[in-house]
Amino acid sequence: MFEKFFYVFIKYIVMYTLIDGKATAAAIRREIREEVDYMRHSHEKVPHLAAILVGHDGASETYVSGKEKACREVGFESTVIRYENTITEEELLEKVDQINRDASIDGLIVQLPLPEHIDEQKVIESIDPKKDVDGFHPVNVGRMVIGLPAYISATPAGILELIRRYQIKTEGKHCVVIGRSNIVGKPMSILLARKDYPGNCTVTVCHSRTRNLKEIVRQADIIVAALGKAKFLTGDMVQEGVVVIDVGITRLPSDKTKSGWKLWGDVDFETVAPKSSFITPVPGGVGPMTIVSLLRNTLLAAKQAIYK
Ligand code: NAD
Repeated sequence: MFEKFFYVFIKYIVMYTLIDGKATAAAIRREIREEVDYMRHSHEKVPHLAAILVGHDGASETYVSGKEKACREVGFESTVIRYENTITEEELLEKVDQINRDASIDGLIVQLPLPEHIDEQKVIESIDPKKDVDGFHPVNVGRMVIGLPAYISATPAGILELIRRYQIKTEGKHCVVIGRSNIVGKPMSILLARKDYPGNCTVTVCHSRTRNLKEIVRQADIIVAALGKAKFLTGDMVQEGVVVIDVGITRLPSDKTKSGWKLWGDVDFETVAPKSSFITPVPGGVGPMTIVSLLRNTLLAAKQAIYK
């Protein structure tokens, strides 16, 4: 009897560990800043990130200004090249080629989405893989798949870093990734299955055509939810002690916030957190790690540390 009360008591005290992406990202920014200060004092060239932004999409503008701000914070140089929606594919490809050949720029990102008349894949493939700090170029994706040094796209790289810094055990665990996008679900599933730490998981990928999703997810030791459906994962779908990484960001109207909207993850935090051992919040979990991973990739590009 006493034992039962003891465990219930402990469960409510210990509960879960909140994976604080905001604090982790701030710590990594400080580490990068220190390296950049050292580079500056040693009269080395500091990392330089260039971003191409086409059009005036609100979300894209926000992302690019967030990346600019992050660059300033760590002492990087940053250049934003803006174009109107009317730019032709040829003009854009010419600019990418010019940046590829510009030795003063270490990393280049082209903010997506691009206008319909521009072939996104063609633009991605025109970026020099050694400057592809978003890790979207097929060369980097391919290198990552076969375990060669590669620029790993920012969100999966950020998730790996959270797992590493929170010393979450992954070997032999069953990881269920919900979502199979090229930028999150697919790379995440490959990275967690690789022979490394974090990795060595048995990975199941679920997507919109998966049958019995609930039964599969209930067997997971680690869940990466990246489907973009607010509060999709609920407490009844997970087992006790699960590690939950919530990638989703859905913006919904709210009368409780000044801005009139609120961000929701793919996880119903209230019902899932009490059953979890580790869980990321939204906001403040995976999101802040994404930009910091881009900075880290840019630093690696400047040092030619991934490949020459
Ligand atoms: P996407 O929209 O390209 O793809 C969604 C995936 O979810 C698809 O593979 C689809 O098959 C799967 N899916 C959809 N409905 C499903 C269902 N009912 N059951 C199972 N699978 C289902 O995804 P994305 O670009 O990877 O983005 C996913 C979410 O992550 C979005 O909310 C996005 O905003 C967010 N995101 C966040 C960050 C960050 O930094 N935190 C970065 C990238 C994406």
